[in-house]
This record gives sequence, C-alpha cells and structure tokens, in this order.
Amino acid sequence: MAGESYNQIQINRAALCHNYRLLQKRAGSQTRLLAMVKADAYGHGMIESAKTFADVGCKDFGVAEIGEGVQLRASDIQGNIFIFLGFDSSDVALFFDYGLTPVLYDMESAKVLSREAVKQNKEITVHLKVDCGMTRLGILPDEVEQFLTQLKQLPGIVCAGIASHFPRADEQDSSHTPEQFLYFEQLSASADKIQKHSLIKHTANSGGILYFPQTCCDMVRAGIALYGYYPDGIAGVGTEAGEKLQPAMSFTTRVLQVKTVSAGVGVSYGHTYTTDGKTRIAVLPVGYEDGLSRSLSNTGEVLIHGKRAAIIGRICMNLCMVDVSHIKGVQPGDKVVVLGSQFDETISGDEIAGWMDSISYEVLCLFGNNNQRKHIE
Ligand SMILES: *Cc1c(COP(=O)(O)O)cnc(C)c1O
Repeated sequence: MAGESYNQIQINRAALCHNYRLLQKRAGSQTRLLAMVKADAYGHGMIESAKTFADVGCKDFGVAEIGEGVQLRASDIQGNIFIFLGFDSSDVALFFDYGLTPVLYDMESAKVLSREAVKQNKEITVHLKVDCGMTRLGILPDEVEQFLTQLKQLPGIVCAGIASHFPRADEQDSSHTPEQFLYFEQLSASADKIQKHSLIKHTANSGGILYFPQTCCDMVRAGIALYGYYPDGIAGVGTEAGEKLQPAMSFTTRVLQVKTVSAGVGVSYGHTYTTDGKTRIAVLPVGYEDGLSRSLSNTGEVLIHGKRAAIIGRICMNLCMVDVSHIKGVQPGDKVVVLGSQFDETISGDEIAGWMDSISYEVLCLFGNNNQRKHIE
C-alpha cells in the first residue's frame, strides 16, 4: 500500500481464537462468553475482533457506548450487543432499530426506553447493573428490590439479566472477590423472586474467569484475557503448557537514521540524557503520538536484531532515540520491535506497562488505537 506508515500493529487472529476457546473452556460449556470489544477491542480493532470471536462461536458482545453497537450491527455482527454506559435519550430509538441491549443503572433511562417501546409497539430486553462493591456504575444493592418492582410496571420492558463487576478479581489470593460474589448471588436470587423467573447472571471479568471460576454463573465478560494478557500481569502462572493465553498484538517500526556521537553529548529535548562514552544512536520514527508514552523516556526498551536497546532521552511526538552501541551493524531500515518478539527476545505489554507504572490494558489501547493495524491469520 502506498504511503504506509513505518509503524505497524499486527493482530494475530489465531491468538484471538485460541484465547476465546481457552476462556470458553475455563468458564464451562454452560456459560456464555461475552467478548468485551469496547475501546476498539482494547486496540485490536472492534469489527475485526468481533468477527473473529463470532467465527469461534461468540454470540454476546459488550461495548461502552451506543455508537459502537450501531457500528457492530452495520458490520453484520449478529447476536446480543450490550451497551454498558447508558445512552442519551435522543438516541433511544437506536436500541430498537439496531436490536441492542441496554444495561440499565437508572430509572430515568428505563422510562425513556418504555415510552419508546410503547410508541414502536415493541418490547425491549434489558439487563440490570448492580454495584456490589466496585463503586462505579450501577444501582446500589438496597435499591434493587424497589427498582425491579418499578421496572415491572413499565410497559414494553423485559428484564432478562442482572450484572455486577469485580474491582479486585486480579488479586488471586484475596477473599474480596468470593465475598462480593456471595453478595451478588444473594441479591440476584432475590431479584429472581421479584421477577418470578430466573435472570441471566453475569459478574466475572477476566480475573473472575481465570482465578475465581466459581463466579462464572450464566455468562462471563472477558476483556483483557481475550487479547492474551493476564489481568494481574503475571503470565499464566499455574497454567499448564499449551493452556496459556497468547498475546495477539505486536508493534513494529524501523530504524530511520544511525549516528555515532562522542561522550558528553546531550540527547533530545531538555538533554535529559548525556552520553557517557562514544555512543551509536538509532533514531526511530515512533513517539508519543504513536502511543509510545513520554513516561518511557530514559526507561523503555525496544528490540533490534533480537537485542534490547534502551530508549535514551525524551520521547518526542514522532521520534525517539535508542542506544545501539552494543548491537553490531544496525542500519537505517532495520526492523524494530516495540511490542512482541524478535528471535529469542520478547517485550510484552506487561513489561512496558511496568515501565510506565500502568497496566497492559493501557499499553494495548495506546498502541493499537494510534497506529495502522493489520490483521493476520
Ligand atoms: C471492561 C469490562 C469488562 C472486562 O474486564 P477485563 O478485566 O478486561 O476482563 C467486564 N465487565 C465490564 C462491565 C467492563 O467494563
């Protein structure tokens, strides 16, 4: 393709499929596995990823906002599409037009949906979001009974499910998740009584599926694990060989220029790095605009010829410099790996996240959503 960027994100479809199957196996065949494809599938491309998961049996998808749901439908994604962050009342018809499922957290939205349902002479299926300890979106536990009672009186609304979210399911040894789950179970049992039918229960995220399988219920909502990362940043400890998640994303660029400078030379803005001897420097066409966080200045590393090269000086908008003094024969055009493997070396999203004092989730979003992506088989 003409004018292609130096910076390329590759998404490995086989890894996405492997992860989906692995998580489905973990959750059990009776449990629906919802694929969280918000944030453009954590940087992996919402449409392409949703299609890939659909190919291996996925029938439930989760996004943040209604526009994402519309896009999925417009791209022919079948099954249930859950909208987790509510909606603006002027958009309510979209739920009916595109067959989307709202996850409710307030009565006002329920009323707006009911009015639209009556107007269109249709029914809409909703799920209820309960806040059992995340202290984020959702109605509080002591409001559930009243909420459901009120909801039953609204024409055109069918409450089919109840959901919650774990704040600490990435902590394998914590008793917090089992405790919160117990609470969720009690709440959802009383919700079933009010509804006089069994609601679809879902609360487990990746941490829940991997570390607290007893929390899987009727459906689970996987995000980070589908993309090949463990929520606690520990790569598959305690898992059998062949049963590990596979990171799907890699990020490559190339060397633009190579130069040798003497000792005592300042590098990049602010001269925050000064060479302590004769130094060979490779200039790379990747900067914070491409998702390479400026906090990686003087901290991060990349791979060239299968060896680690340290980022020296401040990362610029479109450029950064690495020390290649110890790597023989580096030339302009040589392949550089920012995320992924080269020969025997690997830089993972968890390692980069560690340098940034962040989590793999953010690294994947930053890289994937700021660069050209290619999906490979
Ligand atoms: C993002 C999200 C998930 C997925 O979380 P992971 O830790 O990435 O598995 C599940 N449920 C809700 C409500 C979310 O917003």
